[in-house]
Amino acid sequence: ITHSPSSLPDIDPSKLEVIQNPNPKTPPPASTLVFGHTFTDHMLTVPWSAANGWDAPRIIPYGPLSLEPSSTVFHYAQCIFEGMKAYRQPNGKVTLFRPDMNMKRMNNSAHRIALPNFNCDSFLELIKKLIRLDKHWIPTQSGHSLYVRPTMIGTQTSIGVSPPNQALLYVICSPVGPYYPQGFKPVSLHGTSEYVRASPGGTGAFKVGINYAPGVLPQKAAATLGYSQNLWLHGPEHYLTEVGTMNLFVVFKRPDGTHELVTPPLDGMILPGVTRDSVLALGRGHASGTHRLDLPDKFVVTERQVPMKEVQEASKNGSLVELFGAGTAAVITTVDKIGYLGEEVIIPTGSDGMGPVSRIMWKELVGRQTGVIPSEWSVEI
Ligand code: PMP
Repeated sequence: ITHSPSSLPDIDPSKLEVIQNPNPKTPPPASTLVFGHTFTDHMLTVPWSAANGWDAPRIIPYGPLSLEPSSTVFHYAQCIFEGMKAYRQPNGKVTLFRPDMNMKRMNNSAHRIALPNFNCDSFLELIKKLIRLDKHWIPTQSGHSLYVRPTMIGTQTSIGVSPPNQALLYVICSPVGPYYPQGFKPVSLHGTSEYVRASPGGTGAFKVGINYAPGVLPQKAAATLGYSQNLWLHGPEHYLTEVGTMNLFVVFKRPDGTHELVTPPLDGMILPGVTRDSVLALGRGHASGTHRLDLPDKFVVTERQVPMKEVQEASKNGSLVELFGAGTAAVITTVDKIGYLGEEVIIPTGSDGMGPVSRIMWKELVGRQTGVIPSEWSVEI
């Protein structure tokens, strides 16, 4: 996507005004944190208007926004967001994982629903300032981090669907523990073909609020049937697309012993996940020999469609090695069964709940995120 440049002022970090919270809270004990329920003392806000472009950014006490009920976000879902994590290392250093990818994706999401674009570096610089200010909120316990949620909404006060003439960009932060506090346990999926998450020409490839509300009812339906998440299937072939709100990987073993790591291609219906891209890069580094990992020797990485029939057959003939989801919140989530058209498709998992590829990917990703494995993906703030 190319974005039309604007002659109006872009985000200017030098104009930042910081208003300290006069009543800072004491961060709760890490053991009591519920994912996404606690917020830090400050938030970043940057207003935009079609007349004046991006206005001065402000870091202010975390608290309610004041918006008129006519604001377009409340009617036409003019809302985009991002999700990334800041990690605090034992030496006190705080890092983000590939935040440039989140900034680019947010601009692509903005463009798709006619919200304004912004300079990635300037916005990231401001996010870093916010995290520095609330740094003491990042739990030091292993598996813990600060979840950073940049959001943009259309705030034009009028009824009528059009590009909003006002918008608000803001960032809030939430200290979080491991997504699965009980440790690794494979999840079960309901193969959902009666609802769609994304469609050709739709918004599935963007992180827009409108993609998420319609997923709640299918999630409830899957839970009622006893499954933990949805496996979103697409089209008459029932192609596998995503798992809940994660990208999806399948590993097959070919007759010649080669392991194939597969994920669906970015065809407009798949969110281009940062974790997805990282798993692909690690897998390709191993396959090409530029950076060997503790993965099977004969190894290929492909981006292609996988019909549910292929998974069903591979499960029966023993060539299915594993199936897992990948995303920022949980990093890797392994799957042990899929309920599909009245059948249970069984997916192999090891005694630790993982498989030969997911186990290595998890170790490599978490290592790079937490600084145990030095990497250019880790950006100090
Ligand atoms: N798919 C969807 C629908 C998501 O919401 C997310 C979470 N952002 C992902 C995939 C995973 O993306 P990432 O690895 O960037 O977190």
